[in-house]
Amino acid sequence: MIPSGQVIYKLPMIALKEIAVQEFHSSLRGELIGPADAAYEEARKVFNAMIDRRPGLIVRCVDVADVISAVNFAREENLLLSVRGGGHGVPGFATNDDGLVIDLSRMKGIRVDPQGRTVRAQGGCTWGDVDHATHAFGLACPGGVVSTTGIGGLCLGGGIGHLTRPFGLACDNIISADVVTAEGKFVVANEKENGDLFWALRGGGGNFGIVISFEFRLHPVSTIYGGPIFWTLDRAAAAMKFYREFIARAPEDLNVIFAFMVVPPGEPFPEHLHNKNVAAAAVCYVGPMDKAEQVVRPLKEFGLPAFDGTGPLPFPLLQSGFDAIAPPGLHNYWKADFLLELSDDVVAEFVSCGAGVPNIFSGAHMFPVSGVAHRVGKNETAWSYRDANFSHVIFALDSDRAAMPGHTEWVRRHWDALHPYSAGGAYVNFLMDEGEDRVAASYPDNYQRLREVKRKYDPGNLFRMNQNIKPA
Ligand SMILES: Cc1cc2nc3c(=O)[nH]c(=O)nc-3n(C[C@H](O)[C@H](O)[C@H](O)COP(=O)(O)OP(=O)(O)OC[C@H]3O[C@@H](n4cnc5c(N)ncnc54)[C@H](O)[C@@H]3O)c2cc1C
Repeated sequence: MIPSGQVIYKLPMIALKEIAVQEFHSSLRGELIGPADAAYEEARKVFNAMIDRRPGLIVRCVDVADVISAVNFAREENLLLSVRGGGHGVPGFATNDDGLVIDLSRMKGIRVDPQGRTVRAQGGCTWGDVDHATHAFGLACPGGVVSTTGIGGLCLGGGIGHLTRPFGLACDNIISADVVTAEGKFVVANEKENGDLFWALRGGGGNFGIVISFEFRLHPVSTIYGGPIFWTLDRAAAAMKFYREFIARAPEDLNVIFAFMVVPPGEPFPEHLHNKNVAAAAVCYVGPMDKAEQVVRPLKEFGLPAFDGTGPLPFPLLQSGFDAIAPPGLHNYWKADFLLELSDDVVAEFVSCGAGVPNIFSGAHMFPVSGVAHRVGKNETAWSYRDANFSHVIFALDSDRAAMPGHTEWVRRHWDALHPYSAGGAYVNFLMDEGEDRVAASYPDNYQRLREVKRKYDPGNLFRMNQNIKPA
């Protein structure tokens, strides 16, 4: 036992006294984990294995009281503070060296209101948790394309996925949020209360407070018509040009993500395609089932696809379709940008990039940002790239750290070649830790207003382990 008053945690700004830690510990219902605890090694890990940080303390909050206590402790003790939802953020802001991590992963409460078509979900939920709960009622909320991603980081940064065209970004579907601010105050943010905070939360990331729970709008989505279509590389450029015209005219209830990937060696994919680089379309049609074949047919018939895996399937199955090739614990490197259009030059460069996807975990994705996502005004939410038509991301994942320099070079080379065609910035959730200018470029019209909201809710920049927006 360490005698009272003795220094036990050496932190950059301050030496924490045992008494302060004990007081904090006794205020909690959740677990407090330090470097000497058995749970520490697992608890400090995030999705991206490139991030190898050692926080001073990790608190696994179980309720709002724990979060308030932890925010107050971090502020009063001047600790570097990270907030962890699903831990998927590739730059690894959900952890830090020597500071405090507020881990929300134990807070998984969900309540669906089937009549009102809403769901209230706590900050520790993943999209898989939300899909599981809402699917029972034939409802769904727009999220991403991997079910293990946390709802918090994804929807606060925007949220692009299979339902973007039919129902907008994940952040467009936030109705209300319960938030703990940097002062340790509990506030509600929605159209009626704290409207400036509500505006900033919808795209501005984790800069403004810790969201305890989100209320989302739900949509009648149960069995969708979708799945993957593959083309061999010799047909990739023609397929991508066809996609460009097709998606521009497609009904909003059809979402198609264009991608380059390496076919996983297993069912349901034909053996001759195993481990081959292909162009792919990830299809999700949520309109009337009797129209599905007709709406999707042009894509299925174009250029003799090498594989057609589309058909009726439960939405959560599509939502978790990429999970097996997106496991945690691999080394990650990502680069991204918004695009206004897919010019012939962009197509040529993307195809060249796709031919070099190094393994089944890596890829180059072209997410459409259109349909309902375009009907929200540029300044209506913090997410301001409403005129971009696509958000691309090139990502390399590998279990072998030694392979990463080569993979990183592949990502960078193609991103460098595509960047001149960019709309200016990138989707904030696809950024690595790329500095202030890249963050500012993510919010061309809204950056100054975001800085002002930041000054109001977090003038001391307590929440700075994120794609940081500095207080005005
Ligand atoms: C495999 C994989 C697939 C992905 N697919 C998609 C996709 O299809 N579409 C898409 O849009 N994005 C996608 N992303 C990117 C994803 O949106 C971001 O990585 C997002 O930050 C993950 O959220 P998280 O809660 O899991 O991550 P965390 O690392 O836990 O959180 C990221 C940051 O968000 C903030 N944060 C999280 N929760 C809260 C909260 N409750 N209150 C306040 N701040 C909070 C914190 O600042 C934290 O540092 C994907 C990422 C991965 C790794």
